[in-house]
Amino acid sequence: MSLHEYCALCGVIGDAEALALVAEGLHAQQHRGQEAAGILVRRDGGLEVHKGLGLVAQVMGGIPEDWRSGGISAAMGHVRYSTFGSGSVLNAHPLLVSINGNQTGIAHNGTISNASVLRADLERQGAIFQTNSDTEVVLHLMSRNLEDSGHEMGTALEMALGSLEGAFCLLLMTMEGMYAVRDPLGFRPLNLGRITGGGWAVASETIAFPLCCAEYVREIEPGEILFLPFGPGEPSSRRFGARHGLFGGSDRLAQCIFEHVYFARPGSYVFGDSVYEVRLRMGARLAVEAPAACDVVMPVPDSGMFAAIGYSRQLGIEFDMGFTRNHYVGRTFIDPTTARRAAMVTRKLQPIPEAVRGRRICVVEDSIVRGTTSRARIKALREAGASEVHMRVSCPPHRFGCYFGIDFPEPSQLIANKFSVDEICGLLDLDSLAYLSEEGMLGCVKAHRPSDYCTACFSGDYRVTPPASGGIPRSCGG
Ligand code: SF4
Repeated sequence: MSLHEYCALCGVIGDAEALALVAEGLHAQQHRGQEAAGILVRRDGGLEVHKGLGLVAQVMGGIPEDWRSGGISAAMGHVRYSTFGSGSVLNAHPLLVSINGNQTGIAHNGTISNASVLRADLERQGAIFQTNSDTEVVLHLMSRNLEDSGHEMGTALEMALGSLEGAFCLLLMTMEGMYAVRDPLGFRPLNLGRITGGGWAVASETIAFPLCCAEYVREIEPGEILFLPFGPGEPSSRRFGARHGLFGGSDRLAQCIFEHVYFARPGSYVFGDSVYEVRLRMGARLAVEAPAACDVVMPVPDSGMFAAIGYSRQLGIEFDMGFTRNHYVGRTFIDPTTARRAAMVTRKLQPIPEAVRGRRICVVEDSIVRGTTSRARIKALREAGASEVHMRVSCPPHRFGCYFGIDFPEPSQLIANKFSVDEICGLLDLDSLAYLSEEGMLGCVKAHRPSDYCTACFSGDYRVTPPASGGIPRSCGG
């Protein structure tokens, strides 16, 4: 698998160890972005930010010395994955600006799909941008709206959000408090937690909450702006999003089903469902739809693990680990050429000959994107002595691009965009290949209606119009 989430958010307010808790919360979500990290803190003298390229541990190692003395009771942070050309520290989040004298920090998970149109419009009106992050348009729109909002930052934010399209979970901090925002279609997850002793935590994935000493309270709801005040006062909530038709037309959400298939950690609750349980159900459903005649079921670690367990349990066929993973190999997408990427794949996941030799193996994958990595793994299994190699995939074929916060290749590079399942089976040198049906996949989530999930990369059913160019946005802020 070589798809990447753009980022994750974590914020804490009302706890004297907010800085440490946010750092831990980001570390728990490192899988959502490994190229840059940043933390913004509220101090008596104002907001301050520290960010850099690299993992959370590396960036935290460089925080200002005077932050370490404690007393920081509001902080928010971000981990980021960026594509080529936008990986500069300038684009790392949080961004910190002054809006008419109001210090404002912002961090974003998602992709604002009409950002380039909004930006061009703002530039025509004289706005000067400092980054090529789509998130910066929110700050410019807030600045434009401040006078009309009666200089009330929450109202200026609400007015700005009404212009946005696409996927956006946002954390904003001012000296008065922290805002948590989720777009009206709910593409990406964002959750609220209560910290033991009184403070609040917000995180993209609930797996962060134990590290933040917080207990899950609820999701930030689609189209919600939640304000968590600094100091005394209760949280307050307001809604936005009539523009998206949610409150006057279609009421379908567009929660990313691929969070359940691949991105989120199995210990998280996403969109109200346990990722672990959804993946087990996907494996079991796949076994019902497409049982393989095999001796053993093997996952592609790590994200194929729980679907493979569900598949093996459903069929009563032995589950075994056929691959050993080298955790110290660089991420495969770094290499630009197909040949080198394939070499990196076999270095990262190597078959165990004693586990595969002479056996009919069913490999359970979470997805096939370009096919490059799958082909390399199947070849390695055959070279290690597998007598047959079958593959089952715990989602439907990826045939379309994602414009909502996931780093997809161009659609023409997706193997299922060009070839049928039978052709892919031949190209990958498999004995059989089957994917989970869309109906089967959606039948595995319980907390929301199946129609409340985005399936656009499988079905082409886009609930937000993709950018006019049709290209994948490369200057995504989040
Ligand atoms: S297009 Fe696919 S990856 Fe993107 S939000 Fe929709 S389901 Fe998720």
